[in-house]
Amino acid sequence: MALNLFHKNIIYLKGVGPAKADLLRKELDIRTIGDLVNFFPHRYIDRTQFYKVKDLQDTKAEVQLIGKITGIHTVDQKRGSRLVAKFEDESGSLELIWFRGAKWIKQSLKTNTTYVIFGRVNLFNNTFTMPHPEMELLSDYKKSLQSALQPVYSSTENLAKKGISNRVMQKMMQQLFLEYKDRFDETLSKELMDQHHLISKSNALFQVHFPESQELLAKGQKRLIFEELFYIQLQLVRNNLIRKKKIKGYAFEKVGDLFNEFYTKYLPFSLTNAQKKVLKEIRIDVGSVAQMNRLLQGDVGSGKTIVAVLSALIALDNGYQVALMAPTEILANQHFNAISNLLSEMPIMIRLLTGSSKTKARREIHENLENGQLNILIGTHALLEDKVKFKNLGLVIIDEQHRFGVAQRARMWKKNKLPPHILVMTATPIPRTLAMSVYGDLDISVIDELPPGRKQIKTALRYDKDRLSVFKFMKEEIAKGRQIYIVYPLIEESDAFDYKDLMDGYESISREFPKPNYQVSIVHGKMKPADKDYEMQQFATGKTQILVATTVIEVGVDVPNASVMIIESAEKFGLSQLHQLRGRVGRGADQSFCILMASYKLSTQAKVRLQTMVETTDGFVIAEVDLKLRGPGNIMGTQQSGVLNLKIADIIKDTAILKMARYAAKDILTDDPNLALLKNKNILQAYQEIERKTGAWANIS
Ligand code: ADP
Ligand code: MG
Repeated sequence: MALNLFHKNIIYLKGVGPAKADLLRKELDIRTIGDLVNFFPHRYIDRTQFYKVKDLQDTKAEVQLIGKITGIHTVDQKRGSRLVAKFEDESGSLELIWFRGAKWIKQSLKTNTTYVIFGRVNLFNNTFTMPHPEMELLSDYKKSLQSALQPVYSSTENLAKKGISNRVMQKMMQQLFLEYKDRFDETLSKELMDQHHLISKSNALFQVHFPESQELLAKGQKRLIFEELFYIQLQLVRNNLIRKKKIKGYAFEKVGDLFNEFYTKYLPFSLTNAQKKVLKEIRIDVGSVAQMNRLLQGDVGSGKTIVAVLSALIALDNGYQVALMAPTEILANQHFNAISNLLSEMPIMIRLLTGSSKTKARREIHENLENGQLNILIGTHALLEDKVKFKNLGLVIIDEQHRFGVAQRARMWKKNKLPPHILVMTATPIPRTLAMSVYGDLDISVIDELPPGRKQIKTALRYDKDRLSVFKFMKEEIAKGRQIYIVYPLIEESDAFDYKDLMDGYESISREFPKPNYQVSIVHGKMKPADKDYEMQQFATGKTQILVATTVIEVGVDVPNASVMIIESAEKFGLSQLHQLRGRVGRGADQSFCILMASYKLSTQAKVRLQTMVETTDGFVIAEVDLKLRGPGNIMGTQQSGVLNLKIADIIKDTAILKMARYAAKDILTDDPNLALLKNKNILQAYQEIERKTGAWANIS
């Protein structure tokens, strides 16, 4: 179909007048023939089955019957009247009931004529009733464009009230296909369709609205899902390619003395293969003139920090400065300490800049940044302030990315003539497939291997009644020289209840673990940064054995000697948070434990979350479960990516097709970056059409 036909106002469709068109526009944002045909059913009812009255069950399921109306009467009630019709087939009878529109319906009903009726049945006083059935004369039913699987379109209250029922919707689709069937432009190339066994666009649209069989419906859906995901991927991949071509960065041409000296003399362990692989990917990126925009995914404890340090050394070797940004002060502190330690023997100036940095220190930092003496600046959001100016910032490392948005990434760009290379590190393992659609504009590296010698963390679910044995266990572990985290949920920073829980917990722990045998620390968001720091330091250096805390310790805290994580009211935490928290232990050579304390009454979702935690430590498995439980809307980044506005694809279910679409998009653009080849004519046309519509987000990040 020519494009202008696709854009034709639905008012030109027979049976759609101004009023209906207006309603469709307001309620469903359907304006054109194209919009209407892309309004897909959200489910299907199997209408191959006809029931007999005697076989009906009280299941509230929708059923379809064939029979005749043998009597009609009106029952008067306090509020209006109710119309009752007796419906019979050869096996028995039931009652059809209308509470509304009785008068009008009564006139239109024909007795002793065969109808096909459809609806939900209720059992009432031993009689089945079907309120507000959908009905059609058998003769019409046979004539109409019937398919075994009846599409159900989502509706709104307003539409239903104004008489646009599912039946009316179907009729409209029927009209649309009578007029336009087989006139829809093909949007994929023949090559793609052959390669992936996809049916034509026209046929797919037809099968989705009027499925001839389950099998054909599946084919139609697959084709349309592929198409939808393919064009999202095409845009993402293309933007990425354009960026690489257009956006020049600094080429770090050499791996020099600092890197080599550190690598041979001070690297405290040998890198895992995964770390080596990722480092190589980063080296290739920063070595080219195209600016790097890379997402480094690695489960908690997989060793991202050392990758960051080595990348930083490459930047320094080429004469550039490095910024490392963390989401919390605790984490920035910890990075500062860890990295200062690692690099203590090297001639490198490292400073920490956070909200609590003193004016004098700040001034010195600003100065040294601008004159180029300062090599690595570590900090929080404070790094984004305009006052923070670099002489030649070459690499920005952003840790625990889920707390920083795209906008913040962009702000770091502006600190320079050319944009620095950007390495985003995240321990929230976004399922790979989702990452592909959400972060299609970033290149992705994955550390998919833990350092050797790690013991699997043992996780258990415990209840209040188990508290004594948990205390006993804690004492045993402390006797072995281990340290313990106890974490309380803090839903709202301001929630007094949560603080009460925390303080009560702290008191009872202090009672159970009295001085001088035991030392207990506490850390929470209401404390002054300096106090927090002090307490953290006490724990990190082994002066206290137990750290009672809120989730401020969630990200990144690294105390290898801590081997027990106890999570109070674990049911209140989300899966990825639980996983993050658990990741605080299991960092040393000792066997580590995670104890999830829960209340007895758990919601189904909470049970799934806790059970998942007990069963697996694989961050990617956990992320998949999380995605299934919460839906993609709650996963960071999905808003910008358009994956939420999908018409037919389901980012969770359709991961296999998503992968196909991703690779197809890459292949085509590698082969034909401007879609200039004749064989890709359809794709170019459809792509331009989409760009025209969605131009706005084509330029994000
Ligand atoms: P994360 O990926 O969670 O940021 P870290 O970088 O904090 O992980 O590393 C976790 C722990 O593992 C640290 O104590 C670190 O020193 C150690 N580590 C990292 N890489 C290796 C390795 N290749 N071999 C042994 N230990 C390692
Ligand atoms: Mg980390």
